[in-house]
Amino acid sequence: MNEADSRRVASELEHLGYQPSDAPEESDLVILNTCVVKQQAEDRIYGRLGSLKTAKERRPDMTLALMGCFVGVKEAPRLQKTFPFVDVFMPPSDSGPLLDYLQQTKLYDGALEAEAQDRNLRDLVQDADLLLPIEQRKANAISAHVPIVLGCSHACSFCIIPYRRGRERSRERQDVLQEVRLLVDQGVKEITLLGQIVDRYGLELDAPTTLARLLRDVHEIEGLERIRFLTSHPNWMTDELLDAVAELPRAMPHLEVPIQAGNDEVLEGMRRGYTVDDFRRLTDRIRSRIPDAAINTDIIVGFPGETDAQFEDTCNVCQEIGFDKIHLSKYSERPKTVAARFHPDTVSEKDKTRRWHQLDGIQRELLAVKQQQTVGETVEVLIDRHAKGRPGGRTPHNKLVYIDAEPHESLLGQTRAVTIHHATPYSMIGSLAGAHA
Ligand code: SF4
Repeated sequence: MNEADSRRVASELEHLGYQPSDAPEESDLVILNTCVVKQQAEDRIYGRLGSLKTAKERRPDMTLALMGCFVGVKEAPRLQKTFPFVDVFMPPSDSGPLLDYLQQTKLYDGALEAEAQDRNLRDLVQDADLLLPIEQRKANAISAHVPIVLGCSHACSFCIIPYRRGRERSRERQDVLQEVRLLVDQGVKEITLLGQIVDRYGLELDAPTTLARLLRDVHEIEGLERIRFLTSHPNWMTDELLDAVAELPRAMPHLEVPIQAGNDEVLEGMRRGYTVDDFRRLTDRIRSRIPDAAINTDIIVGFPGETDAQFEDTCNVCQEIGFDKIHLSKYSERPKTVAARFHPDTVSEKDKTRRWHQLDGIQRELLAVKQQQTVGETVEVLIDRHAKGRPGGRTPHNKLVYIDAEPHESLLGQTRAVTIHHATPYSMIGSLAGAHA
């Protein structure tokens, strides 16, 4: 979500005459986009702010903006006192305060001066067809993230996001379609629709709609090759949505649906709103409609009060369901959340780390078997990178594949059939089908 926010603000700034720079300390304008989902991420913000403070002291005319979950929807007044050297505070997904600041200080392209006298910069950038300059972000131009649901109203007990990104709001269908069309015009081949609970898209709009209907609309856009969406919530993944994924050839058979824990008491403490059996039924529903679906999940180890036995339940459920990828994290207490207020962080750091490694080991074993089964198969790879001296990309199931071929710019953005000849738990190597190995 932050990457998508950064891309949008970058496009708006380029429209106002700014150019990207690799040297923040030498730049006229620096925006630090922030994440506070874990304490570790928040700690890094303080470090970056320290070095930017030094840069600002050296070059007081630099504009410094702080954006994202650290600022949240109501933390700006408090942060202004703590970080007086920061010029602008921007809530997540909201460039408005920065555009107002640039308007007041007249820090925008002189060619826009006449226009900006009659209209504010917010309206100017909103009306502009904001093009993502492909020359500057070639690697990213193949795939792009498009936020469709902002904020979250669920309030899981461990999660700070509803406090920082605000209540759930869906973007208007036409806005989303317009953004996807622009990205496709610029060469983007794969779109990932984003939301904290993406499958709740459209439910609260004046003209209510659903993610399934949006998928069908996006699927009509000519030139778009792949559509993904994330993150789902087990309670909101409807049959209508699964049917759309099953029917639409360009909707990828890859779902991101966090279970978070494999024990009912822990799930209740987390206020997730489902049981392990509910989740089992969901995976059955998914696999009955999309038999080969890649099901990825998130798990938090060491939630307050989690016992070894409860953690073992989580390990067993992971083996039983056979997830394709587990995004693992250790519980990190976040201020103001229900968990921070009512559930003391009882699991030691040592136990959290041990559980993390145990589950990671299970995941490696599961993936080693799954990935090995693909050896000899031919898969479609959207080539989006050159790494380790080879071209590489993702399969429809979002698996990483490197190709035995010379890296060449012309391969980027192509979807090629690749025959897998080597597999490790986290990536595979193959040859272009029809090419001699
Ligand atoms: S669904 Fe739960 S974990 Fe996800 S963003 Fe909302 S509150 Fe946080």
